[in-house]
Amino acid sequence: MPPETTPQIFGVKIESAEKSTGRGQTILRGNMGQAKRKRDEFLKAHPTCIFCGGGAVATTEEHCPPRALFRDRAWPEGFVFPACAACNAGTSDHDLVVAFLAQLDPAADASKLARGEGLMRQVARQMPQVLHEMFTSSAVEARTNARRLGLRPEPGQTYQELGVVNVPEAAHIAVRILATKLTKAVYYQRTGSIFPVGGGIMFQWFTNAQKMEHGRIVLLEALSRIATMSEPLTRGGRDLKDQFDFLYSVEKEGALHMLQVTFGKVFGFVTIFSQTPGRLEAMEDQIKERTGSMDSPFEFLSTNRGMP
Ligand SMILES: [Zn+2]
Repeated sequence: MPPETTPQIFGVKIESAEKSTGRGQTILRGNMGQAKRKRDEFLKAHPTCIFCGGGAVATTEEHCPPRALFRDRAWPEGFVFPACAACNAGTSDHDLVVAFLAQLDPAADASKLARGEGLMRQVARQMPQVLHEMFTSSAVEARTNARRLGLRPEPGQTYQELGVVNVPEAAHIAVRILATKLTKAVYYQRTGSIFPVGGGIMFQWFTNAQKMEHGRIVLLEALSRIATMSEPLTRGGRDLKDQFDFLYSVEKEGALHMLQVTFGKVFGFVTIFSQTPGRLEAMEDQIKERTGSMDSPFEFLSTNRGMP
């Protein structure tokens, strides 16, 4: 049974963003007419929103994972999906939170640090509470966390300066939303079908702190025996695997799918999903029966349990 997700990320120390400039607007240049034509063609080929279960007319192109997660906004080729306005709107705050999380890499280079600081300024403007939750720990909490992760401060450094940050509730929500969308997106990409309303998605996510504490991601190890295939993710010759990598696998009968995703060296998630109503629920019941525990290591993002 995997241990509980450790609610910390071991991140770099990013200087606080007091001198916010309020700028950061970009101007879209280039041939707007051509861009519109390309979008119209895309929506003609993919007329239905893939995120709300079929039925809604797609009016927008959605990048999933969001472009904000990638350096220079260079997203992996082929990860653009048809979405209705309602599904595409309203996730920008969540996109920002996951983009910021993905920069919290203890081995970040200068460009990643600069990008992290830029995103941090944006989070500070739009969601100051999130930063407060992440970076505020008492000396006692900081010491307990550091000891659990086997970290020691250098002479003259405090435990609070070690770079262990709390995972705020906003991050749990944002990762859930990202996992739900990416699961449906990859399902569409691989099967050509829209994930149905009655389908189920089970989910668990993990951070680099969990790996430090336990020496490995227990969940990924448990899943590693299942056959998987990896796709190279490139755009314009640039290898994006250091930012976004995934393994997708399907059971022989095609009813059970699994997606394992990592974003850099910071966090990742696993979803197990099925288009067959009740399939995951039955699997979860088996797990509970076998382990004699009422607790499942997974959380349901989508289920039709209890629905008529
Ligand atoms: Zn939709």
